[in-house]
Amino acid sequence: MDYNALRSVMTERQLAPRGITDKRVLEAFLNVSRHEFVPVELRAASYGDHPLPIGEGQTISQPYMVALMTQALGLNGNERILEIGTGSGYQSAILACLAKEVYSVERLKGLSEKAGEILARLGHRNVKLRVGDGTLGWEEHAPYDGIIVSAAAPAVPGSCIEQLANNGRLVIPVGSMWSQSLLVIEKKGNETISRDLGGCVFVPLLGKDGWKKNGNDR
Ligand code: SAH
Repeated sequence: MDYNALRSVMTERQLAPRGITDKRVLEAFLNVSRHEFVPVELRAASYGDHPLPIGEGQTISQPYMVALMTQALGLNGNERILEIGTGSGYQSAILACLAKEVYSVERLKGLSEKAGEILARLGHRNVKLRVGDGTLGWEEHAPYDGIIVSAAAPAVPGSCIEQLANNGRLVIPVGSMWSQSLLVIEKKGNETISRDLGGCVFVPLLGKDGWKKNGNDR
């Protein structure tokens, strides 16, 4: 399988025509081996225009969604980033190419460990992982210039705003369990400015400031 060719096709057909114009973002998508982050039997499909299962009922997001969220952060390489929902580690690897430091929290130990192995093997030394409830953020390394939440939130967790640096950006899907709006929230002093990038569907953000495990009530 010529994965380099598949990556070029993915970038040219799925990302660039849909408004992913940031050269550094496109470059990262050309460089990161997405097939490494999916189960072996799904590798051939790993550059397709869709999410894929990664085990434990979770998914690796569609490439375009990862690109859209990443581009929305407007990174130049000097930032400290918090990611909530490590999952496969693919989004973390993309962020690692574009920012200075990446801190990523995942609630499922098995997924975090697997992501850690792949990220280490691919040489992304600027990513630190932690197992826990990401709705509480990761206070130790705050404030963050950018925060990406890759699971669907019922509302914006307070910690995300608290741990965001001034002029920092938070990208988060907010809505119901089944459909959300992708919001970009910029912090300006005590105010926040919110933009809606459109509809999306993510797996639920479970935890203190997310959905409760056994039901649709918060
Ligand atoms: N960016 C990831 C997306 C993974 S799906 C990728 O491309 O692979 C979202 C992940 O969020 C799942 O792995 C899920 O377990 C995790 N998650 C859900 N609620 C969480 C919480 N409160 N804290 C940390 N991770 C959470």
